[in-house]
Amino acid sequence: MKEKIYTIPINEAFEQKGFCPFCYIRKKLEKEAVEYTLGPAMMEPDFRIFTNERGFCQRHMRELNGLRNALSLALVEDTHLDVVEGLFEDVLKPEKRSVFKKEKSKKAVFAEKLKLLTNSCAVCEKVDKTFLDYIETFVFMLKTEKGFPETVLSSDGFCIEHFASIAEKACEILSSSDFEKHFVPIIEMQKKRVNGFHENIKKFEESFDYRNAGKPLEVPKDILVKTGYLLNGEFDL
Ligand SMILES: [Zn+2]
Ligand SMILES: [Zn+2]
Repeated sequence: MKEKIYTIPINEAFEQKGFCPFCYIRKKLEKEAVEYTLGPAMMEPDFRIFTNERGFCQRHMRELNGLRNALSLALVEDTHLDVVEGLFEDVLKPEKRSVFKKEKSKKAVFAEKLKLLTNSCAVCEKVDKTFLDYIETFVFMLKTEKGFPETVLSSDGFCIEHFASIAEKACEILSSSDFEKHFVPIIEMQKKRVNGFHENIKKFEESFDYRNAGKPLEVPKDILVKTGYLLNGEFDL
């Protein structure tokens, strides 16, 4: 059962007591995927084809550069450039006259493919796929793992980015009664978390009022960054 592979890392993520258990999982998956790309994947023709076609987003390209594995990175960039260059060659070839009216002009196809290339990332896609399996397993665990709902309810909750994915999956796979029993309490917990941050943001704003000048700040100094984590998921500064 594929779920079993994910159960242990999910429990481990809750034990970390970080900002959001799924931010922790995501970060770990991204690190592993970046290392895999310039490590074992070099010997995996299927994944090489995948990276050749997709390329990388800027963030992951930066992380690949950070690994300081110059030869592997050169090889990956080389074969990806083959694909990029191929697009240029195609568009510049003289077009054969055709009696059939084409649906799209060669120029439009070129621009479209180039756009697709810049919007795709082999690491993001690999991570997204596994991440969704984790989200699904998490929702299953709510109704199958004894004591797990209590673990979740004693945590600080999630960032909204990941809570949105969890809520989507919960709506999709939980029956109405399971949703009511296992998921509504989590929505209530998450609402409290959002409310706590909101109150603190208001207090932070009030500290700028001249009438509060000199008074000690009542909220954590990093409230803006932490609210950013809440809304968008944990990020590196
Ligand atoms: Zn998160
Ligand atoms: Zn990416």
